[in-house]
Amino acid sequence: MTEITSAEFEKEVLQSGKVVLDFYSSECPPCEALAPKFESLAKLYGADIKFVKIFRQKNRELSDQLVVKSSPTLIFYDNGKEVGDRLTGGIKRSDIILNLNKLLPESKVKQITDKIKPTVSEFDVMILGAGPGGLTAGLYLCQAKVNTVLIDIALPGGHVATTHEVSNYPGFIEPQAGYMLSHNMSEQTKLCGTAYKVAVDVTSIDLDKREIILDEYETVKAKKIIIATGTSPNLMGIPGEIELKGKGISYCATCDAKYYGDKEVVVIGGGNSAVEESDFISKFASKITMVHQFDAFTANKTAQEKLAANPKISALLEHEPRSFKRDGDKIITEVEDLKTKKIKTLTSDGVFIFIGMKPNVQLFKHKLKLDQWGYIKTDEDMRTSLPDVFAVGDVISKKYRQITTAVADGTIAAIAIAKELN
Ligand SMILES: Cc1cc2nc3c(=O)[nH]c(=O)nc-3n(C[C@H](O)[C@H](O)[C@H](O)COP(=O)(O)OP(=O)(O)OC[C@H]3O[C@@H](n4cnc5c(N)ncnc54)[C@H](O)[C@@H]3O)c2cc1C
Repeated sequence: MTEITSAEFEKEVLQSGKVVLDFYSSECPPCEALAPKFESLAKLYGADIKFVKIFRQKNRELSDQLVVKSSPTLIFYDNGKEVGDRLTGGIKRSDIILNLNKLLPESKVKQITDKIKPTVSEFDVMILGAGPGGLTAGLYLCQAKVNTVLIDIALPGGHVATTHEVSNYPGFIEPQAGYMLSHNMSEQTKLCGTAYKVAVDVTSIDLDKREIILDEYETVKAKKIIIATGTSPNLMGIPGEIELKGKGISYCATCDAKYYGDKEVVVIGGGNSAVEESDFISKFASKITMVHQFDAFTANKTAQEKLAANPKISALLEHEPRSFKRDGDKIITEVEDLKTKKIKTLTSDGVFIFIGMKPNVQLFKHKLKLDQWGYIKTDEDMRTSLPDVFAVGDVISKKYRQITTAVADGTIAAIAIAKELN
């Protein structure tokens, strides 16, 4: 692995054949998550592809010149030409491998992949999901000196990391930026000593044996498992939604609202999330039309009062979307008036959908008892129907899904487990 400065870019990257270049920064959790993957892949591919790192903060001019907008960013070069995909954010090992393999002939790729040695590691507790529930369980277990690993298919933080502001988490007088709150939770747990394996692919899981395979080669075993995989946004399931997902249709205001400065936006939904997030989107967009199926919003009073006081937001009640289409730069949303059954079209620059969530149980739903909505049933210690398998946070069957309730579940499971293991 070579560390370079801008002055060496020409020689060490552009004139060096096959290269992968990592723009990293300090105080950058996704960069920290990438570092061990980059190093281990450098050992595997290093004879054929040059692995180069550059510190972005000290090499800003080059980073601007190459339009590198976030850290880490991986760029792949073949004889001075950028090739493959630019990878940023929570970079998965499998995505790096995919791009490295594109640089090499098939025979070479086979030689290298044959060298990948499966690894096995053992822990007392394995936590799946590093949102508030999983992070809290990790903290309590670590403080109880229980050898614990946190595994996440994305970066730590869960939904909090993409919530623009949290005003109801106790201990903070002012509203907190969601990413800071989740960052602090994650750092507290990491500093205690909990092991992290994040931005990984889960290849398979065996709950009975309490074994998981990550990135196709890394087996992790544990005496106990805590499932803290949370929820994902519901899709509308209507024509055009999948095709336009990420191309004008979004499920995350924090991630995407900033791209709608002075633009018109449609928001689907009428619960707390839809109302709160519309208020946030209005900091950027010039006009928001909220489409909701009932004759009144279901959000709480405080959220509704905020909405009523916001001149940029108007409501189309008792209407339901039927399809989305792209027309040039615009998204056309067809909505049905549920009273008259007439179809109207709404033209906007983007659509945000906030119509509730579904539990992330795909990997375990045939093994565990679930409620009628598919959430995992637990007892008061957060035990599931399978011995040594616990579940916490939004993924479990319960009435209220909040950061505080996820944190409480994580605490309970961790204390129960620590007592059993001791
Ligand atoms: C837009 C929005 C705004 C919100 N605002 C607030 C608020 O202001 N206040 C409040 O108290 N609550 C709020 N909530 C609710 C709150 O965010 C959740 O209750 C809380 O995050 C639940 O924590 P969790 O740890 O159970 O799950 P999550 O936060 O959902 O985290 C689950 C984690 O599991 C990971 N994961 C998923 N599948 C797997 C897998 N197979 N293997 C490994 N990891 C996996 C995910 O990547 C994620 O990191 C909001 C939610 C949303 C969507």
